[in-house]
Amino acid sequence: MKPRSRRFILCAGLSLTFILTVVWSTSWWWTAAFYCDSSFGIACYRGVVTYYFSSFAGTEWHLRYAADSEYGAIWWPRLTYLFVLIPLWIPWLAFLGETMFVWFRFKPPAPGHCQCGYNLAGNESGVCPECGTPFTE
Ligand SMILES: [Zn+2]
Repeated sequence: MKPRSRRFILCAGLSLTFILTVVWSTSWWWTAAFYCDSSFGIACYRGVVTYYFSSFAGTEWHLRYAADSEYGAIWWPRLTYLFVLIPLWIPWLAFLGETMFVWFRFKPPAPGHCQCGYNLAGNESGVCPECGTPFTE
């Protein structure tokens, strides 16, 4: 993996993790909802994002303070014929896991070392004797 793509993935992963953290904690007190012409709605509240069938006629979106925090967060996913509940910690964990995986798995090697960690000082074959990766120095 090129260092530039690694940086991009790390940057995007950290940003998404951060945004989800903000959305998750905000959703304890705020409800964001979008209804679309009496067919479906998407809402975010109490730590979940939900997709549901809506009988609301018309298209509208709103963000309002809802004192739902007394009920606490919803922790587990639920699927019924009327709605889907996805707790935000699931995508949060996925983005964090992906970011950490890329961080550790594609760490650039230290100067003078192969990506497997082998010290290439004095090596003139052009190939790492440990893992067989060609290198240019
Ligand atoms: Zn190597």
